[in-house]
Amino acid sequence: MKRREVIKNLSLLPVTGALLGGALPLNSMLAAPAEAAAAKPKRDLFKELGLRTFINAAGTITTLSGSLMYDEVIEVINYSAKEFATINEVQDKVGAKIAAICHAEAAYVTAGCWSAVVLGTAGVLTGMDGNKVGRLPNLEGMKSEVIVQKTHSSGYVHAVKNTGAKIVVIETAEELGKAVNEKTAMLWFLNYAGPEGKISNEEWVTLGKKFGIPTMLDMAADVPPVENLWKYNDMGYDLVAISGGKALRGPQSAGILMGKKNLIAAARLNSPPAAGNIGRGMKVNKEEILGMYVALEKYVNTDHDKEWKMWEDLISIIENAAKKVDGVITKVTVPPVCNHTPHLNISWEINKVKISRGQLMSSLRNGDPSIEVQGNDNGILLNVFMLKPGQEKIVAKRILEELTKASV
Ligand SMILES: *Cc1c(COP(=O)(O)O)cnc(C)c1O
Repeated sequence: MKRREVIKNLSLLPVTGALLGGALPLNSMLAAPAEAAAAKPKRDLFKELGLRTFINAAGTITTLSGSLMYDEVIEVINYSAKEFATINEVQDKVGAKIAAICHAEAAYVTAGCWSAVVLGTAGVLTGMDGNKVGRLPNLEGMKSEVIVQKTHSSGYVHAVKNTGAKIVVIETAEELGKAVNEKTAMLWFLNYAGPEGKISNEEWVTLGKKFGIPTMLDMAADVPPVENLWKYNDMGYDLVAISGGKALRGPQSAGILMGKKNLIAAARLNSPPAAGNIGRGMKVNKEEILGMYVALEKYVNTDHDKEWKMWEDLISIIENAAKKVDGVITKVTVPPVCNHTPHLNISWEINKVKISRGQLMSSLRNGDPSIEVQGNDNGILLNVFMLKPGQEKIVAKRILEELTKASV
């Protein structure tokens, strides 16, 4: 299943997302269903504002509000909102803990993976030179080029360009060698595009060391497996960026930048709460910083094998329901890198089940309760990580209903 195909059919993508060239991956999944039944709120804003809530059988998609935070994350957010602390101290203390968990020299919490990429790149460009920090995105007199493989040069590369850096696109190691010059600042690798490129992660790191140029990895949505949290630091990447509000189930507007001590220090000069830099707008509050830490801790301590088994069970409940309809074809797939979790593809023979993919998606969306799924070229695609306990039965029932209604 090609990510591009999924995106093409995801009618919920905002215009900006669509403009990024269809290369945005759909963002990962949930580690475990939220356990707590929501307490009855004092004020129901979803109702008051007429906001649609839905069963999320699509995955941790940014426009669908990412993931649901772990209860432990919500608790720490509520608790920490009642006291003051200095942001830098919170970042120092949390950063040391995150770095230890992820085998990095240093780390801190950013406003998502995108801002981790912007700020990390900014740090590479400026180093500890405060004057340069104040000049970005004007790179006159500084290194200004970032080398990227052709298949990695998707919409996300714009995060690198935010700093003023120019992208130099190459395909082979030989081309990379020729592209390196005194202006080369960094080598950027988009993890999910790894299998499609000619240069592997390991080779990328080796090339960086050979030429003495820092390497950065964007692995936003690339857990599970949990080992990815330290694998690339162990491999020798100088900087690694990941989203906090996808599979890690931290605050949606949080992420982590980790890596070499000097580069993290330089990135922080370009970051809030410091001002007079390009990062000041990418603010993270202490609640989110602490919430990010608790989410990471919880994620690392999750029984991932058990969780995987649970996802497969949820999928088979929905799959078995859909298969009851004559002409329906189901397939379970696991994307290799990004959103590496079991997905259920449901397609159908159009002469036996007379409904278009779009019609089915909108029937599910407009039904009660509303259900979101993804579309792909052959039909619909489900990701069960975001389901709360019991929702798999509702999804199975609704899909069976709609397919039965349409069957000839
Ligand atoms: C989601 C994503 C981002 C952006 O991450 P945020 O945490 O939403 O800022 C960047 N790169 C890739 C590959 C992504 O999937």
